[in-house]
Amino acid sequence: MGVMGEVACELCEAARVTDWYHEDDLCWIAECEACFVPMVVWKRHDPNPPEEVRAELHQRLSGVAGPLLANEFWIDDRLRSIPDHYHAHARRRPR
Ligand SMILES: [Zn+2]
Ligand SMILES: [Zn+2]
Repeated sequence: MGVMGEVACELCEAARVTDWYHEDDLCWIAECEACFVPMVVWKRHDPNPPEEVRAELHQRLSGVAGPLLANEFWIDDRLRSIPDHYHAHARRRPR
């Protein structure tokens, strides 16, 4: 959560504007409001999770995305619009 006067981070704010699929101590998973696919967001404002955390996040995202996207997805964790807070998209794989 941002201090007054700081630029707020959209992912720290975690506004529930779309469907939420999952939440726990490590992360939350919701539909990305821009891409309409499941997205996992680490609950830390940091772009570089340790390898074991990254693996956990991807595993949880796969658990949600698998049934939703009939296992036709790939995990895209390049940070574009929000480069300083780790998140990853499960993108549809073209058939
Ligand atoms: Zn997106
Ligand atoms: Zn953040």
